[in-house]
Amino acid sequence: MFDSAPLLRDVFGFDDFRPGQEEIVDAVTTGENVLAIMPTGGGKSLCFQLPALLRDGVTVVISPLIALMRDQVRGLQEAGVEAGALTSGNTPEETDAVWEALEAGRLKLLYMAPERLAAGSALGMLRRINVSLIAVDEAHCVSQWGHDFRPDYLRIGELRRALNVPLAAFTATADAETQDEIVQKLFDGSEPRKFLRGFDRPNIHLAFTAKDGPRKQVLDFAAARKGQSGIVYCGTRNKTEVLAKALCSEGHSACHYHGGMEADDRRIVETRFAREDGLIVVATVAFGMGIDKPDIRWVAHADLPKSIEAYYQEIGRAGRDGGPAETLTMFGPDDIRLRRSQIDEGLAPPERRMADHARLNALLGLAEALKCRRQTLLGYFGEQADPCGKCDLCDSPPEIFDGTTPVRMALSAILRTEEWFGAGHLIDILLANETDKIRARRHDTLSTYGIGKDWSRPQWQAIFRQMMGHDLVRPDPERHGALRMTESAKPILKGEAHINLRKDTIRKATRRPAVKAMVSEEDAPLLSALKAK
Ligand code: ADP
Ligand code: MG
Ligand code: ZN
Repeated sequence: MFDSAPLLRDVFGFDDFRPGQEEIVDAVTTGENVLAIMPTGGGKSLCFQLPALLRDGVTVVISPLIALMRDQVRGLQEAGVEAGALTSGNTPEETDAVWEALEAGRLKLLYMAPERLAAGSALGMLRRINVSLIAVDEAHCVSQWGHDFRPDYLRIGELRRALNVPLAAFTATADAETQDEIVQKLFDGSEPRKFLRGFDRPNIHLAFTAKDGPRKQVLDFAAARKGQSGIVYCGTRNKTEVLAKALCSEGHSACHYHGGMEADDRRIVETRFAREDGLIVVATVAFGMGIDKPDIRWVAHADLPKSIEAYYQEIGRAGRDGGPAETLTMFGPDDIRLRRSQIDEGLAPPERRMADHARLNALLGLAEALKCRRQTLLGYFGEQADPCGKCDLCDSPPEIFDGTTPVRMALSAILRTEEWFGAGHLIDILLANETDKIRARRHDTLSTYGIGKDWSRPQWQAIFRQMMGHDLVRPDPERHGALRMTESAKPILKGEAHINLRKDTIRKATRRPAVKAMVSEEDAPLLSALKAK
């Protein structure tokens, strides 16, 4: 048997394993095939680096980013471990040194970019040396439908078969579908030993807020955390530049980062962020996997991420050192519309699009959650938890009201206008606003005209937003984003189900709501037509 404790201390400088590390290290060291799912910052690298030292021969590490490999190789070398990387970023001297160490049988860890596997010579080279383990970092990159897909990851299965050595795969992405894909593509479907470890990051405070002057919301959030390192994620490149400027003019040290920048400029930002205290990077999701800074104190989303997994990964970059960290995610109807249309207009097959809508729904459900966000978030990953006391909803529980009546009013207005309009016009109908559009279409004759006057316009906006959040209605890209009813709205419309909504974004109506039949007899044919769909 082996004793990993001295290596842990002497080479890596840690007194104890983090939760989950030890059992993974044991399994990998004894040569089991392993799939380990651990949150970002959970300490996955150690789970293959330590076994690499305990096993004979070389461990080949496949990793998606050159910067990530270089950091790890440098760290290992500084700790006195023989490690090297073969990447397109190498100088000829570096490559020579790696070969020399390999041929002398000294090298313990060989990092390789997946693209290297495409070159025919790589396999021959690896066959000649004593490879005893393959470690795959960020294994979700093998998932064709995930946000980090790397086609060359699909070659890893071939590599495993050719070398016939154990394989250990690591990722922070937890959903069952991605796990299945990893098992299929990396292990040819034969189940590896699985480790699924604690997704909770208790030091990260979770909060969402509906957009209401979003630029000021971001600036206020940053102002309250002046001098702390943070990331602001934006949905567009242009916005990263605009917001970075705004932050600078408020006296912050801030810069932008996105995929349209020159590689050199991006590297400058990465290096500054790693070295400087208190820098804010305003970025698109291009600023991602390679970021290894332990003391990021906050992450703000100026726009809604695309899925609950993306959200989790992005906020997970905060507080890796275990110290307190804060997050704020902003969202509004425009975000929902944008994310839905990105899915609908993408090239994925229909069943994939359904899954993507479901992942977006999970995030929207989190955004509109009525109780502890952490419970909701962990619940999605299959973990149970008590109310956390460290999220905005635990801090101040939202006031909840039975929203069935206004929701049915809104759904009727949608049906009466045959699902051809967006929230703005529908609210005009409900409030009997005599706009030109209302007059032109004779919408003042509808049975729903003016039935919603007991709520104000902002209240209706909040109701429509929550209806989208609960996936009762969806914008249809083929109808310029007109809202269409989904299956899940039908029970509410038919009076078979109730729905609770949050009151926090809704100011009290001055008049008492009149109770009124929301679905008239005339709606019946429409309803049955929909049911038949
Ligand atoms: P992951 O790849 O899971 O996101 P990393 O391997 O990058 O996580 O580790 C995250 C941080 O945790 C690193 O700064 C690392 O040095 C630190 N770390 C890992 N294992 C331990 C440990 N046993 N004790 C203390 N710190 C650790
Ligand atoms: Mg990692
Ligand atoms: Zn909570």
